[in-house]
Amino acid sequence: MLPSMWHPVVLDASSPVAVRQTLAERFTGFPPVISRGTLVRMAALDVTLVGGPTALLRYGGLRWLTDPALSPPGEYSGLTKTTGPAVEPDDLEPVDVVLLSHDHHSDNLDPAGREFLARAGRVLTTAAGAVRLGGNAVGMEPWSSAELTGAEGAHVTVTAVPAQHGPDGSDAIMGPVIGFVLAASDLETVYVSGDNASLDVVRSIAQRVGPVDIAVLHAGAVQRPQELDCNYLTLSSDHAAEAAKILDAAAVIPVHFEGWTHFTQGAPQLRAAFAGNGVKDRLRLLEPGSTAAL
Ligand SMILES: [Zn+2]
Repeated sequence: MLPSMWHPVVLDASSPVAVRQTLAERFTGFPPVISRGTLVRMAALDVTLVGGPTALLRYGGLRWLTDPALSPPGEYSGLTKTTGPAVEPDDLEPVDVVLLSHDHHSDNLDPAGREFLARAGRVLTTAAGAVRLGGNAVGMEPWSSAELTGAEGAHVTVTAVPAQHGPDGSDAIMGPVIGFVLAASDLETVYVSGDNASLDVVRSIAQRVGPVDIAVLHAGAVQRPQELDCNYLTLSSDHAAEAAKILDAAAVIPVHFEGWTHFTQGAPQLRAAFAGNGVKDRLRLLEPGSTAAL
């Protein structure tokens, strides 16, 4: 049964900007991946970790950027950034779609990331965030979908999914956040969690829009002593491993686990947690600046 808040958002050539044409023109293609002797297949998803929550995805003939945090190290609205982006903003272009889980936290959208938004074709984000950002931002409610067309007519459906940025009952304090599920025929389904700390939310996503093949999870076990009794505000390493099992995802790419001081668990904890939960073969741990072809 469709939820009462079902609200389809369709982006196509009738939109104010001719998205289909613009996106197709900007497509630059996937690199081929060699597998099994002479067979050549195209990767369903290429992921480059830019740093923090920011990753460049190539999927369905489109280039997607998650939560742009592109500023140099420094203090941003009370949060401390320790490393700058591994890929310069100029080298990220063209970006067809920014998947912005929320606009009101500086580790998800820092000043340089905010400047970058105008350089993308579209910004998909929360309804409240789209009102604040204006311009090319499009607001999505959880469980609503947008249709995009990439190179050679590939159709990608983006479904906004819930994200709970803290313990139960914290939504009003933390403000709205969404994640995204990307799906296209003949391609693996990809889940980008946004800042979510709840495995119940992961379960609801697996039930409603699963199965998920590849999960890009905001990990890092964010903790801020002055907020919400030190509860985690994003997935811990253990919960990221548990999420892999709930989703039955063959591959998990953690993001949002390095580069800021409020991320309390990083690469060593992720390796240990995935090994301890019996899913170490699913972990695709990227160094900033490196790319995985899945
Ligand atoms: Zn946040």
